[in-house]
Amino acid sequence: MEKKGVNRRNFLRISATAGAGALLIPGAAASTLNKTETAKKTAFPMRTLGRTGIKLPILSMGVMRADNPNIVRAAYNSGLIHFDTAHGYGRGMNETMLGNFFKDKPRDSFILATKCKPEWPLSDNFEKEYTDMFDLSLQRLQMKQVDWLYVHDLNDPAQVKNERLINVIKKFKADGKTKFLALSMHANNPKVIDAAVEAGVYDIILLSYNFKLNNLKELDPTIERAAKAGIGFVAMKTMTGGREDAEGNKKVNAQACLKWAWQNEHIATIIPGFTNFDELDECLAAVGNTTLSGGEKEYLAALCNEEGLYCQQCGICLDQCPEKLPVPDLMRAYMYAYGYKYAQLSKETLEELNLPENVCTNCDTCKIKCPSGFNVGRKIAAIAPVRNIPTEFLS
Ligand code: SF4
Ligand code: SF4
Repeated sequence: MEKKGVNRRNFLRISATAGAGALLIPGAAASTLNKTETAKKTAFPMRTLGRTGIKLPILSMGVMRADNPNIVRAAYNSGLIHFDTAHGYGRGMNETMLGNFFKDKPRDSFILATKCKPEWPLSDNFEKEYTDMFDLSLQRLQMKQVDWLYVHDLNDPAQVKNERLINVIKKFKADGKTKFLALSMHANNPKVIDAAVEAGVYDIILLSYNFKLNNLKELDPTIERAAKAGIGFVAMKTMTGGREDAEGNKKVNAQACLKWAWQNEHIATIIPGFTNFDELDECLAAVGNTTLSGGEKEYLAALCNEEGLYCQQCGICLDQCPEKLPVPDLMRAYMYAYGYKYAQLSKETLEELNLPENVCTNCDTCKIKCPSGFNVGRKIAAIAPVRNIPTEFLS
């Protein structure tokens, strides 16, 4: 395994190799942001979102880092109706931007979902803190009600069934602050889906779903069972971080990735996070012909053997690391920076992890053997220093 170390010189060397200079220049990823676009309505295949009965175009918009309302406008004018955001995206700026954009639009012309993440273990004051968080989201969105609220980042069946959490979100629904209740998960643990069905309060699940997943044999039947029980599914991370290579240099074929995910009829819609008009156009083009060509199948099959950016979040590495580092979260932070080119979110993710000041310094070589072939030590060496970059310098 490659010798690694975390120091400034190493970071700069790796960053230069990875083209990470773009991480330090606000807006560098959004090269076509100023393009003027007259959007045409697209004819979308529609799917029903489980027992909610809501009919959605198979393409929606993830508003994770789109700080430019013109992209939301272009998506809306193209016929997209479902917009997905979160309390924490852009430190609240995405919700605020959406609130300003939608305030004069007919409420039945769009569907809006946001996410609030509880801190585990729940504090004594959890009920008030979580309610305040959701109320602030509604205030930023300038709405009395969202279509659904995701309890964000639930990866443990016990969390899904936590009585205090369930009581709070049921009250949100009873108070009319959300039409439906939902959960989002990064780890794609089938047991979380089963727990959501058993809990009986979650109508919708947002999960990572892409051609690189190595637990599809277990995941797909679980999705099917949950769909039969009435759960609606929304998919994210369909593009495995948006780049083909571990350094984030080469863009992935978005159309092939979307078409692959649409093969599962239980995925009602996908929420790619367009950050410019070209990315929106590419996704819209996929809607016109959702069948994977032979060439696209071969392309995706070949990519399955590449290291890439998408960490399965399987957790196999956790026991291998003598420092017990939260490696799956670190790999997610790496993907945000090198794949999404969203270093701010990467830094926020790293800050939540309470890492020691010097990570990995006791290992000459990384001990982790990742089934996805990730060079974990190298990725951590590249991402850990992002913690020390002032936020105003990050894109
Ligand atoms: S780094 Fe590898 S072993 Fe660890 S969670 Fe990701 S895919 Fe699994
Ligand atoms: S084994 Fe753990 S501490 Fe050692 S280099 Fe790998 S990730 Fe870092």
